[in-house]
Amino acid sequence: MPAYLHFPLSDQMSYKYFWRPIVPMLTAAVLISPVHAAGKRPLAFREKMQPMTRPGHADDNPTAVDRIRKTAPGAFLNSAEIPQSQVELLAKDTYEKSRGYRLNKIIRGNMDRKEIALTFDDGPHEGYTLKLLQILKQTHTPATFFVVGKQVEKFPTLVQLEVIEGHEVGDHTYDHVNLNELTPEMVEYEIDQCDRAIKRVTGSSVRFFRPPGGNYNKTVLSAASRRGYITALWTDDPGDWARIPGDVILQRSLDRLENGAILLLHDGIQETLDILPQLISEARARGYKFVTLSQLAMNRDKKDIEPMIVGKTKKF
Ligand SMILES: [Zn+2]
Repeated sequence: MPAYLHFPLSDQMSYKYFWRPIVPMLTAAVLISPVHAAGKRPLAFREKMQPMTRPGHADDNPTAVDRIRKTAPGAFLNSAEIPQSQVELLAKDTYEKSRGYRLNKIIRGNMDRKEIALTFDDGPHEGYTLKLLQILKQTHTPATFFVVGKQVEKFPTLVQLEVIEGHEVGDHTYDHVNLNELTPEMVEYEIDQCDRAIKRVTGSSVRFFRPPGGNYNKTVLSAASRRGYITALWTDDPGDWARIPGDVILQRSLDRLENGAILLLHDGIQETLDILPQLISEARARGYKFVTLSQLAMNRDKKDIEPMIVGKTKKF
C-alpha cells in the first residue's frame, strides 16, 4: 500500500495535502479560459460582447468624437465658426474653373433670375426651430436647412416638420467639424453619420451637403461627390453667427441681395428670428422669389452646372 494512504482520509483531503497543490492550477485555468475562448470566437460574437451603443450617437458612443479630438483638436467649430467670405469662395471657385476642375458644387443660382435661396445652418434647436418654421409658414417661404447629425438625433421631430412643411434638408456633418482637419476616413464618417441620422427620421437621403465654415478640400469634395451630393456654399454671409444686432443682419442681407443669391443664416439665433419677417417682405417687395436649393440649382444657367464627378477630382 502506498505510504500516503496510511494517513486517515480526513488528512488526505486536508488543505495541506490535497487543496494546496490544486488551488493555483484551478485559479490559473479559470483566469486563462475566457481569454483563450474569446480569441477563438468569431469576430461577430466578440463584437456582441461589447457594451451596447446606439449607432452614430455621439453622447453614447464617444469613440468617434474622441478620435477627432485627439487627432485634430482644431476641427471642432461648435462655438467659433467663422465661415469663408464670399470673396474667398468666389476666388476659390474662379481658380478651380480656370484650372478646369469640375467639382460638383453650387455657389450661386441663375444670375438672370430673381430667385433667392434662404439657408439655415446648425439646427435643429429646441426653442428656435419651431419659431423659425412658424415664420416661414406664415410668410409662405420655402427654405433649406443644413442640419447637424447629433442635433437631428436630439430633436428628430423638428427635422420631420421641416420636411413636412415643404423645406429641404441638407447634410452639415454629424459633429459640426472643420473637415479640412480630418483624415479621409473621418471625413466620410462625418458625412455619412449625418446622412444616416436624417434618413432615419425623414426616410429619405439628402441631395445637398454643406461643409461647416465652408471649409473644403479635394478629399471633402470627392467624398461628397461619390455619394452623389452637391456641395452647397453661399453668395452672402451677413454674419448672424457672430451674434451681431438684428438690424445689422437685416441691413447686410438686404444690401447684398442679388439674382441667384444663396443666403447663409443660422438656426438658433434670436436676432435672425427677429428680423426674418422683415427680410422676407422687403426682398419680396424688391421682386425676389424665395426657392429651395433644389429649385435654385435646377434653374441654373447650363454653363454654371458642373457635371457629376464620381471619385475623380483633379488635385487643387
Ligand atoms: Zn455650421
